[in-house]
Amino acid sequence: MKKVKIALISGTGMKSLIKVNSTRRVGTPYGPSPMISFVNFGEVEVAFLPRHGEAHKYPPHMVNYRANMWALHSLGVERILATSATGAINPDYSVGDLAILKDFLDFTVIRPRTFYDKAPVTHIDLTSPFCPELRKSLLKAAKKKGQKVWDDTTYVCMEGPRYETPAEIKMLRSLGGDIVGMTVVSEAVLARELEMCYACVSFVSNMAAGMQKRITSYEVVEVGRRSTPIIQGLLEEAIRNLPKRRSCPCSYALEGARL
Ligand SMILES: [Zn+2]
Repeated sequence: MKKVKIALISGTGMKSLIKVNSTRRVGTPYGPSPMISFVNFGEVEVAFLPRHGEAHKYPPHMVNYRANMWALHSLGVERILATSATGAINPDYSVGDLAILKDFLDFTVIRPRTFYDKAPVTHIDLTSPFCPELRKSLLKAAKKKGQKVWDDTTYVCMEGPRYETPAEIKMLRSLGGDIVGMTVVSEAVLARELEMCYACVSFVSNMAAGMQKRITSYEVVEVGRRSTPIIQGLLEEAIRNLPKRRSCPCSYALEGARL
């Protein structure tokens, strides 16, 4: 099987900007992955995985996250850079802002959240929930490009697919959440369980419930379309300045995790 070390995961938009070399679907113990594309990105070939499947057919709570992450792992992927659309909870954030995620709160309910349902009992450390090395490269890229990004963002993951209520947003704000989405945490946790690095650049597509009149999917798609070239530039530069070998805790996440 063809091997690549870096993968990109995106919601919508990015694929149309990338020239595809080849594609493959990977079989996993959790079912088949969506079609994964091998694309030239900057100077390297990377695997591109559309989070919601081809044609955006899986809603956030029905995405087969375990198949997605297992497939990338079996391709030899060590580092994953993701993008996601979010609503702003923190009133200092504005539509169009970019955030390099630093921490998260998990409010998912029904989706599978782990690869380790059986013995050996495995507790993964998430003291640095997103890969510090990838974060550093992304922040360096943003600085080089003069792109303003939030660098200490706490992402809240809700089950969806509905948006939140104003009371929920008020609660999430009081808990320290900055932005809210429905996908990233599932990927971040599963990636760490397979010792893959994971970081995410989120864009703010709307203000969360109670902070603007109404939320529609149109604005999510529209802001995504505008943000994609900027995020793509950041990811390319981040990949360019990544150290060749990993020296982050993600690469040995299973050491000392098993009872
Ligand atoms: Zn890492």
